[in-house]
Amino acid sequence: MTDTYETECVVIGAGAVGLACAAELARRGQEPLVLERGQGVGEGISSRNSEVVHGGMYYPTGSLKHLLCIEGRRLLYPYLASRGVFHRKCGKWIVATSEREDSEIAAILVRSEKNGVEGMRAVSGAEARALEPNLNCTSAIESPETGIFDSHGYMLALVGDIEANGGQVAFETPVVRAELLADGRFMLETGGTDGTRLICRTLINSAGLHAHAIARAFHGYDFDHAPPFKLAKGSYFGCAGKPAFSRLIYPAPVDGGLGVHLTLDLAGRMRFGPDVEWLDHSDPARVDYTVDPKRSEKFYAAIRKYWPGLPDGALTPDYSGCRPKLSGSGEPAADFRIEGPEAHGVAGLVHLYGIESPGLTSSLAIALRVAEAALKR
Ligand SMILES: Cc1cc2nc3c(=O)[nH]c(=O)nc-3n(C[C@H](O)[C@H](O)[C@H](O)COP(=O)(O)OP(=O)(O)OC[C@H]3O[C@@H](n4cnc5c(N)ncnc54)[C@H](O)[C@@H]3O)c2cc1C
Repeated sequence: MTDTYETECVVIGAGAVGLACAAELARRGQEPLVLERGQGVGEGISSRNSEVVHGGMYYPTGSLKHLLCIEGRRLLYPYLASRGVFHRKCGKWIVATSEREDSEIAAILVRSEKNGVEGMRAVSGAEARALEPNLNCTSAIESPETGIFDSHGYMLALVGDIEANGGQVAFETPVVRAELLADGRFMLETGGTDGTRLICRTLINSAGLHAHAIARAFHGYDFDHAPPFKLAKGSYFGCAGKPAFSRLIYPAPVDGGLGVHLTLDLAGRMRFGPDVEWLDHSDPARVDYTVDPKRSEKFYAAIRKYWPGLPDGALTPDYSGCRPKLSGSGEPAADFRIEGPEAHGVAGLVHLYGIESPGLTSSLAIALRVAEAALKR
């Protein structure tokens, strides 16, 4: 017979967001147990992204993406510094290569001012070309607050905080079923080698691409609360050689993403991506993370708009990630959904849906919202 254990608080998912939530709940004395189906931290979206600390200029003013990106960034840099996690505020330019894009990025600058993003400024084409001689652009805007960081080191620091405050992370422990009990607590069944039952009073569903599946596996809970769910893959290509630019370079945004941009990895190498490939299904288990070398044709064309000197043969397939989207191609981008008792009426339960970019940047701020919502009785 399966053993049953009782605990106060469970977080499903040991990605950056789940761990940030658990660390916050641990600080509040909840001694959370994080259940992760993988063998280590961040095996999901959190290890398949650009590792950029975003400024917060793109998102509609007042949206969760806007507010939590800025709040999260302001919390993240000092947190990384305090834990000795690598990060570099290298800054970024969003560049225009046509008159139409000049006005698109000018509108981003106006929005960034409304959003309260610090230090944004317009850069003329002449200044941009003088500072970045390899760049082709008609104008640019600068975000000095944008940076890069070691997201894995960040997640390990969060695990340290969780454990230091009485919490734990259990790996190879997939949640296969959840139930709302008559006394308002939650019963979880886990698979893996030691399948068990766990009963808890507070439950955070931070399962990334699988958050909808967890909600669907919930007995006694109305799945209609969950928003629509779509997947958009993003592929990256590496680029050998000395970096051609000293800061991150982003083109004007495209439908579903920020455009094929240049980021620098932790070793200072150039990496381009992610592009946007809408998948025709919404099953995370069917996502093929192989990068199709044929996609490089579109990458060369997109990158050469702002870096005409990109040599032939320089791009090599790297890795890919997948975005949990709540809106489809051509639709306005959906906001993060942090669904606590106010959304679904169940005390102690919070679902996190659609935590795509800027989820890493926002993670510490998301954690504050989640803890507030989960602990409100
Ligand atoms: C291509 C791409 C680029 C991005 N770039 C950036 C960026 O530069 N900056 C930024 O701020 N954000 C970026 N993001 C967004 C950011 O990566 C995500 O918002 C963030 O990593 C989400 O973390 P998470 O913890 O919600 O999800 P995940 O990291 O996916 O964690 C969820 C965890 O839940 C586990 N799980 C799933 N089902 C179960 C189950 N049944 N039982 C137990 N465990 C389970 C999974 O194994 C996984 O480890 C990017 C995203 C993508 C796709």
